[in-house]
Amino acid sequence: MSADTLALLGGTPVIDAPLAPYRSMGVAERQAVLDVLESDCLSGFYGSPGPEFMGGPRVRDFEERWAAHVGARHAISVNSATSGLIAAMGAVGISPGDEVIVPPTTMSATVMAPLFYGGIPVFADIEDVTFCLDPASVRDAITPRTRAICAVNLFGHPARLAELRALADRHGLWLIEDSSQAPTASEHGRRAGTIGHVGVFSLNYHKHIHTGEGGVCVTDDDTLAQRLALIRNHGENCVEGFGLADLTNMAGYNFRLTELQAAIGLAQLERIETHVVAREILAQALTKAAAGMPGLTPPAVRDGCRHNYYCWTATFDAAAFGASRDAFSAALAAEGFPHFTGYVAPLYRLPLFRERKAIGRDGFPFTLSNRHYDDGLCPVAERLWREAFLLFEPCAWAVDDSTAPRLARALHKVAASANALARWDAARAPSGTPPAA
Ligand SMILES: *Cc1c(COP(=O)(O)O)cnc(C)c1O
Repeated sequence: MSADTLALLGGTPVIDAPLAPYRSMGVAERQAVLDVLESDCLSGFYGSPGPEFMGGPRVRDFEERWAAHVGARHAISVNSATSGLIAAMGAVGISPGDEVIVPPTTMSATVMAPLFYGGIPVFADIEDVTFCLDPASVRDAITPRTRAICAVNLFGHPARLAELRALADRHGLWLIEDSSQAPTASEHGRRAGTIGHVGVFSLNYHKHIHTGEGGVCVTDDDTLAQRLALIRNHGENCVEGFGLADLTNMAGYNFRLTELQAAIGLAQLERIETHVVAREILAQALTKAAAGMPGLTPPAVRDGCRHNYYCWTATFDAAAFGASRDAFSAALAAEGFPHFTGYVAPLYRLPLFRERKAIGRDGFPFTLSNRHYDDGLCPVAERLWREAFLLFEPCAWAVDDSTAPRLARALHKVAASANALARWDAARAPSGTPPAA
């Protein structure tokens, strides 16, 4: 059997030792945690007006540095990006029946957030090059009931943020950015997360830098910053102390970050460029390796943008390659190249939307809307999910000098085997037993 024989067909895998997992914790994080333990103050928050309303010293230090890192006036830390997205919807005043335009291709929390205030998620389609919201589709989705747009800087690439902000301003809408996957991305020198009225970042374990769980909201608007802080920390107890006249959505949560997490966050933020750049270099090497391969288009970067590659997302074209995505993916997996296909099904396929049931037993807030969530709503998102997306996660793996060459060799081997994979496709049971992955 030659070295060209695919591992899927009995050959030797290119990558015989699995890649090592990405670890971002180092000695600085360890020391930071020990210092907090030593201080005996694991959270500095108090849920009433006063100096502790804004959290402990590390939380406040972390927020100050995060604001400086992205170039925003305010940063409000939270215990997850999910919490941050909910707080953002509350802060801008989303009310029952308000429509919020969202993309269907994102982590589900983006599209759940409006529901907690009775808002109606309305799906607009994505672009087929950078996979973020298509401004033309957003424009078509705007009605008199629209109150906000939530753009996602998906996979680490900024959405068309300046264009979406101009559209939002023209229609008197809020622009919220879910920048969970894009902590260092930018568009024409402005950080992703700072072009909308509120930006939300994630610090969960799977992101470029993390605090186990955590998140940060950023805004340049003083009123929104105060409202975010109130929603984070039992607003109902504090509105009088702050002399707040508008009580809309001021029923608060406990979305507070602990001193332990903030201490880890400070150490992580210190080295964010090192962590991100290693992933960018790996992603760029994969893009170079995939250039010119029939059927596989590596991720694009729009002019003037920085992509921080939370995912390296290629698109696959079965007709151009000569065999199915399933075959390509099975062969790649057998060579030891970790990846997955499809990303997520368009989120309107979730049972909550299909059965129009989210809050309470009667179907609220869908009872306030005649929007439908049927297939066909976002054809580009549907096609990319069903046929095209093939993803590698740079944030899941340690990067050393051998990582990119090994992945590239696996990619080249599979790309050169279209004929063998077409035969493999043809030999598969017509009933469609999926290949082992
Ligand atoms: C990870 C992620 C979230 C959720 O982040 P948590 O901090 O886990 O709540 C939301 N949106 C996107 C796009 C994400 O990738």
